[in-house]
Amino acid sequence: MSEKPIEHGRRRAIKLALGGIVAVPLANLLLRSPAHAAEQVSADDPMAKQLQYTDNSPKKGQYCDNCKYYGGGAQQGPCQIFQGKLVAAKGWCSAWATA
Ligand code: SF4
Repeated sequence: MSEKPIEHGRRRAIKLALGGIVAVPLANLLLRSPAHAAEQVSADDPMAKQLQYTDNSPKKGQYCDNCKYYGGGAQQGPCQIFQGKLVAAKGWCSAWATA
């Protein structure tokens, strides 16, 4: 006779637990959005101005993708000089050095 309230409570507990199992991975996916990815160096960046950084190298044979500070990538990649930002593979700055 008194088993129904316990059964109802158990079902509710199982629903809450399953909701938590689904909610945690979903929250992880949402927090890994591209907004957290590294940004490309902009022309307005003070350091970019100081080092004359450009997305299109004006120097024949000198590109970010053959600079010793380039971290790799076909289109863009990290640079040890512009920490935490991405530079264009065919970009250039005055800190360019032979790899
Ligand atoms: S140091 Fe300058 S040329 Fe070298 S990868 Fe970085 S931005 Fe490009």
